[in-house]
Amino acid sequence: MRIVFIGPPGAGKGTQSGHLAEHLGVKNLSTGDVLREARDAGEEIGLKAAEYLDAGELVPDDIVVEIVAQRLGSSDCCQKGYLFDGFPRTLPQAEALDELLEKHSAPLEGALEFIVPLEVLFERLSKRGRSDDDEETIKQRLQIYADMTKPLDEYYENRGILRRIDAVGSEEEVFARLLKAVESLEVDDASGAQPGGKS
Ligand code: AMP
Repeated sequence: MRIVFIGPPGAGKGTQSGHLAEHLGVKNLSTGDVLREARDAGEEIGLKAAEYLDAGELVPDDIVVEIVAQRLGSSDCCQKGYLFDGFPRTLPQAEALDELLEKHSAPLEGALEFIVPLEVLFERLSKRGRSDDDEETIKQRLQIYADMTKPLDEYYENRGILRRIDAVGSEEEVFARLLKAVESLEVDDASGAQPGGKS
């Protein structure tokens, strides 16, 4: 199963994509985690990304696409599929992902969009305490989301693979909605893991 998660910072994508990856037995790739790890390890690509990460700005598309292409190309990655958390975040990234997947003859099967009202996001992010979670940076990240990432919903809606999820509620409630959305997707059997945990 090949799925991307779209949603503003603070929508709970990370938590839910972790649960779903475990449920489906597929890899969960968070570009935010990958970029932070690369920065903390002092890798060249991580150092290039650091200034953007710390400022709450989007890391340039070429850097992010390079990291994703590396991961998709690695031998332990993704035979059964994957979930992308936080990627793509721009239209050029979405197009680059489609191109990469075309090479692997494995198109995306779903895009799950997390819907959360702004005031709830703001409250959640203010409590999180990460280095990019101060008030000004939060505002900026939410604005960047609205400008750059939100338009992806139309891109995937036109392909018939977008599912919107009300992401306000308990972790269990949101996960139940997520599973329902995943079950409504058309999945290519050859990609392995199926909704319901069969593989
Ligand atoms: P996240 O953990 O998904 O909230 O991402 C944290 C930060 O990582 C973002 O504010 C960006 O600086 C960077 N980042 C993560 N994914 C992407 C992406 N797909 N494109 C650009 N920047 C990204």
